[in-house]
Amino acid sequence: MEEKYCQSCGMPMGETDELYGTQQDGSKSTDYCKYCYEKGTFTSEVTMEEEIEICVPILVEEKVCATAEEARAMMKEFFPSLKRWKQA
Ligand SMILES: [Zn+2]
Repeated sequence: MEEKYCQSCGMPMGETDELYGTQQDGSKSTDYCKYCYEKGTFTSEVTMEEEIEICVPILVEEKVCATAEEARAMMKEFFPSLKRWKQA
């Protein structure tokens, strides 16, 4: 099964819809996590670079990446493929 990620912050979404944010009508978003997306809007209006900086300490703390530099480099590769940051 293909792993699903939040299309804003890249967080793995797991098997359930528990982590998904909500649309304006209260239904679940199929793209974004509850930390990024609530009631049909993003919880914070940030640029991709800002989002990366928010996520760097989290990835280091969760031991996904060993260093901040590694986390930053990984996200710079990964984030442009996410729906929120894809250039139209
Ligand atoms: Zn997210």
